[in-house]
Amino acid sequence: MRQGAWWGLLLALAAMPVAAASMNAFRERAVTDPHGLIADVRQQLDRAGPALAPARERELLWGMGTAAINSNDDAALAEATLRLDGLVTVAQDPVAAAAAGFLRARHGIANGLGDGLGEALRAANKVQGDADPEIDAWARFQLCDAYALAEKPDKALPLCRQAVAAYSALNDDFGVGDAENDVGIALATLDQVDESSAAYQRARQGYAKVKAEQLVVMVGDNLAQMYLKQGRAREALALSRASLRQELAAGRISDALFSRTDIARAEAALGHHRRAYALMRETVEQARKAGINGQLADMLRVESGMAEQVGDLRQALADEREAGRIVGATETPALRAVEIELEQRYAAREKELRIGELEHANELKDLQLKSAQADAARRREEQQRERVANTTIVLLATALLLVVGMLVLQLRAQRRLAGELQAQTLRDPLTGIANRRGFQQRASELLGASRDPRSPPHVLLLIDIDHFKSINDSIGHLQGDRVLRLLTDHLTMAVDDGCFVARIGGEEFTVMCPHAGLAAGMRLAETLRKGVAALALPEDLPLDRLTISIGVAQFDGARCHDLSSWMRAADMALYSAKSGGRDRVMASMQAG
Ligand code: GH3
Ligand code: MG
Ligand code: MG
Repeated sequence: MRQGAWWGLLLALAAMPVAAASMNAFRERAVTDPHGLIADVRQQLDRAGPALAPARERELLWGMGTAAINSNDDAALAEATLRLDGLVTVAQDPVAAAAAGFLRARHGIANGLGDGLGEALRAANKVQGDADPEIDAWARFQLCDAYALAEKPDKALPLCRQAVAAYSALNDDFGVGDAENDVGIALATLDQVDESSAAYQRARQGYAKVKAEQLVVMVGDNLAQMYLKQGRAREALALSRASLRQELAAGRISDALFSRTDIARAEAALGHHRRAYALMRETVEQARKAGINGQLADMLRVESGMAEQVGDLRQALADEREAGRIVGATETPALRAVEIELEQRYAAREKELRIGELEHANELKDLQLKSAQADAARRREEQQRERVANTTIVLLATALLLVVGMLVLQLRAQRRLAGELQAQTLRDPLTGIANRRGFQQRASELLGASRDPRSPPHVLLLIDIDHFKSINDSIGHLQGDRVLRLLTDHLTMAVDDGCFVARIGGEEFTVMCPHAGLAAGMRLAETLRKGVAALALPEDLPLDRLTISIGVAQFDGARCHDLSSWMRAADMALYSAKSGGRDRVMASMQAG
């Protein structure tokens, strides 16, 4: 128990004839403000001098002595015990002798000097059977405290319980608090956790009754240890935090470091291992800085456990070794055993980690393999998609080519058709030669072209079948058509290639001969007339005779200066031939 029984030493100042409230404050101050109390006592002793009553002086010296022990102030302790010894001589006061004895015993036990317990027993002996129940309770408690401090719980426990009973009888709640705290300490040493916990709670109640709030918190520290063992980590955490606040406020650094350690242990118990470990590392660091080596070893061991818990076995081992170095040779074999065990666990853990790493590596390779397989599958799919896309493109291109080809063919067909339609507009469907429009087009071309003035003029023959109406009437319209075709065949065969033959009306034809001159035109007209008249008509054509009349006009550039005047001239010549009796050729009456 870290608090040890030290504040228990304050003991029964209630034995002194001072008002209970101020006495309790004095008792609490010996724990919470020992330096201040020592200074105060010195001042009071100096001021009062020899006039001071021996009983009052004893009270003050006892308070100073306990405060000196609580603050490790050896000078103050020596001063208090020497003056108490003086009182024994001067006032024959056995209580002063006992007080001096208890102070020396406490100092001896705390510093491992001589037979502290013997001293305590001798001191108790001096006041044994004292008629004053307060002195009796005080002596019992002092003895209990000495045994508890000497870690002899079996001996301490009955004495401490007697002290509790005695203080209870005196209604001294502060004393009950002191004695119950020692009961708790002794039971904790005996590992009677639940009983210890109950005793600490009673101690807190005792202190609480006299408003010794700081002591309530301090016992709470002891209680927190039991709570941790009882699995009441949350309650332990709250108590340790309250304790830490109080210690920081009072500037008790080493106590604060212990409370931090308790907080870390509570956090670990709550399963907050990383937080606990971090807090503990910080705490150990602060303990190192503060040079608190006695506590450092314990803290390092707590840290070591936490490091192990989070898997930081290197740190766990290092902490354990450092703790061993601090504690020194006395614990070496035990330390060695801990070290060996830790080393073995460390090696085992390393092996586990290695296996874990290997497994992890295998898993990684597995993953890589799977990923590679997935990549390959993806690539295959992509290739497939590409192939499909390419095929589609080829098909589309082919289709496009087909469409273009078809369009081209269609276009050509349309052009041909258009050409044919165009040609048809210029051709006579019955005979197959040029019609009036065909003739006009050709004639315009001819007349539009430049002409060498030295070459003979163009000649136009206008041909008309004689009495064709009568032929039609006598042999029928269809046979008349046949006659038209017969004449066409004759004309086209009889004229040379340079002349152009056309059917420009019902039974009217033209023959246009470029650069032929009138004389040649007349000769051609005569040849044609004779040929028709002599034509051997087919037997099935019931026609005796076929004759034609022809008007001939040359394009003289004067009377005939365009197509219509040229046609008119030829027509007038034809009229002359008709009126002259038909089956004859007449030239246009022209100049030249
Ligand atoms: P003329 O000697 O004065 O020239 O007398 P004609 O009877 O030949 O002249 P007319 O102008 O009086 O008669 C022309 C006739 O030609 C009238 C018409 O029925 C006929 N005809 C016109 N086109 C066609 C055709 O395509 N086929 C047939 N069979 N007869 C046609
Ligand atoms: Mg006619
Ligand atoms: Mg006619």
